Amino acid sequence: MTDTAIHPTVTDPAVAGPAVASRLHLLPQTNRLRSLHTVIRDRDASRADFVQTSAQIFRQLLDTALDLLPVVPQQVRTPVGQTYHGLRPAAPVCGVSIARAGESMEGELRAMLPQTRIGKILIQRDKTTKLPHFHYAALPPDIAMSQVLLLDPMLATGGTALAALALLREYGVFEEDVVFVTLLSSPEGISAVHAQHPRVRIVTSAIEERLNADAYMVPGIGDFGDRYFGTDQPR
Ligand code: URA
Repeated sequence: MTDTAIHPTVTDPAVAGPAVASRLHLLPQTNRLRSLHTVIRDRDASRADFVQTSAQIFRQLLDTALDLLPVVPQQVRTPVGQTYHGLRPAAPVCGVSIARAGESMEGELRAMLPQTRIGKILIQRDKTTKLPHFHYAALPPDIAMSQVLLLDPMLATGGTALAALALLREYGVFEEDVVFVTLLSSPEGISAVHAQHPRVRIVTSAIEERLNADAYMVPGIGDFGDRYFGTDQPR
């Protein structure tokens, strides 16, 4: 049985119908994926296991996200002199990571698409008010010509995602050209993004039950950035 079946929500593509299904892509809840989640959700996971296992889920997420992007036909000659009728991306891909946690996804994207440009947005959630504060952005000036993969492993309240999407709009990026790639998402975060940006597609590996009073997802994973970068550990 899958998470979807255990905790159906209005944002579950499986129960919410085609309109939601086309903009919300929940990875198939395979035994393999659930095993990977079991490693990283374990509060006693070592940092090495956390980092290495997260990377394997990022790879699945990025594969799914890249598969949503437009392609055009391309033929190549094979070494045996035949024509292969293939495909290539219709537009350049640009990754945009939301620092700090989103930076954890950059390495996998770079490994899969070495030529991809990667921009960065620093928006921090105030630990008390939970509100997002914009600090810094470094984005290609012609990013509007690209298909954008917006990277943040955590979609909780959606506040940070909305601030990042607003900035991308200022750079001329249309929401239909953005795929938000996130490891864990909450129903509240998904609804918040789609309420303001109905055409943004979300790719996620899990939809959690809800947020707790501290705006952490449950059952959740804790503070992803702290666990990934080791900042929750004494030396
Ligand atoms: N950020 C995290 O790292 N974890 C959550 O559960 C929510 C936001």
